[in-house]
Amino acid sequence: MMRAMAAAEEAARYPEPDRRPIQVFAFDPMVARLSGQETTTISVPYEPLRPGPSGELIQVIDYDSVAGCYYEPVNLDDPRVLLQNGLPPTERDPRFHQQMVYAVVSALLENFERALGRRFRWRGEKRLRAFPHAFLGRNALFDPDMDGTLQFGYFRADEKNPGRNLPGQTVFTCLSHDIIVHEATHALVHRLRERYKEPTNIDVYAFHEGFADAVALFQHFTLPDIVDRYIQQNRTDLTARTPLVDLAEQFGEGSGMGRALRSALGEAPDPSLINRTFEPHRRGSILVAAIFDGFFTAYQTAIADLLRIATAGSGVLPEGALHPDLVRRVSLEARTAAQRILTMCIRSFQYLPPVDVTFSDFLRSIVTADRDLYPSDEDGLRAALIEGFRRRGIYPSMVTSLADEALSWPDASDRGLPPIDRDVVNALVLDTAVGFRERRGEEEQATNAVFDPDWAAAKLHQYARANLDKLGLAGPGRLKVDGFHAAFRHGSNGQLRVDVVIRYLHSVPPDVQKKFGAALGGVAMRGGSTVVADATGRVRHVITKAVPTDPDAIGATDGGVARLRGLRQWVAQFDGHDLLAPWIQAESRLVQSLNFGRIDSAV
Ligand SMILES: [Zn+2]
Repeated sequence: MMRAMAAAEEAARYPEPDRRPIQVFAFDPMVARLSGQETTTISVPYEPLRPGPSGELIQVIDYDSVAGCYYEPVNLDDPRVLLQNGLPPTERDPRFHQQMVYAVVSALLENFERALGRRFRWRGEKRLRAFPHAFLGRNALFDPDMDGTLQFGYFRADEKNPGRNLPGQTVFTCLSHDIIVHEATHALVHRLRERYKEPTNIDVYAFHEGFADAVALFQHFTLPDIVDRYIQQNRTDLTARTPLVDLAEQFGEGSGMGRALRSALGEAPDPSLINRTFEPHRRGSILVAAIFDGFFTAYQTAIADLLRIATAGSGVLPEGALHPDLVRRVSLEARTAAQRILTMCIRSFQYLPPVDVTFSDFLRSIVTADRDLYPSDEDGLRAALIEGFRRRGIYPSMVTSLADEALSWPDASDRGLPPIDRDVVNALVLDTAVGFRERRGEEEQATNAVFDPDWAAAKLHQYARANLDKLGLAGPGRLKVDGFHAAFRHGSNGQLRVDVVIRYLHSVPPDVQKKFGAALGGVAMRGGSTVVADATGRVRHVITKAVPTDPDAIGATDGGVARLRGLRQWVAQFDGHDLLAPWIQAESRLVQSLNFGRIDSAV
């Protein structure tokens, strides 16, 4: 008793640590074995953990449905584990598998929080649950319709073509850094834009897949020692084929593909490829290649002066190993550019429409969000990215040029919208500010005292009803406030920038959905607007997708009629491609073919 009290007193005398170092495989066990060294230690935000690990936002549950048992959960707060920065990487101990899933997802969440400028919360009080040994199979999945958990499969490597695995050895998808990030990114995208699970155009699922791959690849560049090594090995060339730019090597090879699952490099740039590519993962790969074209250009620009200095102006590197100082400096530039571009991609969410995303919307949102903070694009990252998209045939619709002011979403100041209620704006800003302090669950929901989400939603609903036309929400349908938050970000001048973002969802009445639903293969008919205002409530941008509307309906708008036409064209295109269509119930054929349960079968 005395000892316990003394221990508690002792603990109270030490400040809580900020970070928790944890050992992981940098890529996967196969790459680690081949290189003889590729394990690393990553640092994630500290939080007290229960065995699982079970934290505030993530809970790892190791139920193996094949063996029908729970594996002993790892206790990362046990002093013997803490002393080693977590368990050493191994394929043999399920407790390390749990640790790796927790660590990689935590690092990813932190990256999203930084980029978004706000604290991340799952809907309700839920946590993201991850099952490292969910099933036997060459797959891992996130399925929002199956309670939104992350499920990792395991399988025996191909007997005839195991790549660099042993024939028949067990491959654990939960030990692949890329697969963990890919699946968790699906969950994050789903949290930010729930309606992107509705396949309303050819790009929606491809965006989900491509974005998840791009994030997984960019997360490689958060590991300094790994980046250093490949910069040395390939003499600063990042486009050489290495695990740094390949995705899930062990999984790809173990599945008998003879290569990594996918890659940042893509095929040679061909702007017409996008018009011929339908399958979501492959179409998503074009998006990844476009983003990485931009990254490689930005990187080359950033290191040009270093190379000139190192080669006395010749640009030709001397034979033999590069000077470690040069490697460190070049690596820093690579990591900085990667982080900036990843941050730009994540920040685009502030401006993405609530439904029906396209690659073009993504590019325009990236440009708008980045211009907010870096008006002059001094380091040319935005230009490099726009050029990367152009080379892959991704051109924004409805813009007059590829200049970045033309790509930005239009300014809403000429719409004559009144400012958003000052009380609501203030409450949102305060809620976000308090949320930043709330990490680690120290606070007792202090926000509830100042902020009532139902009250804010009601106020914002009223605001929309009074301004339907100006918010792009005209047309028959039911209006819903889909989400709202404030975001804090720092601009290039060091000033704090505060924005308020509101998403409205606009769905057709049930009888209209019923009338058109079968012709549209079961796709939900929805529109909506993302409204971005400044800290005074002045509306800066309104990004709209009109609710699809029958031309004969009362109150039909041009935008709504055009959306219905677009939906019909997409469904016709889909019917032409989908070989399974004849076997699937016609009324819901599209949503039965395109959903996470089905399409994530290639991760
Ligand atoms: Zn996927």
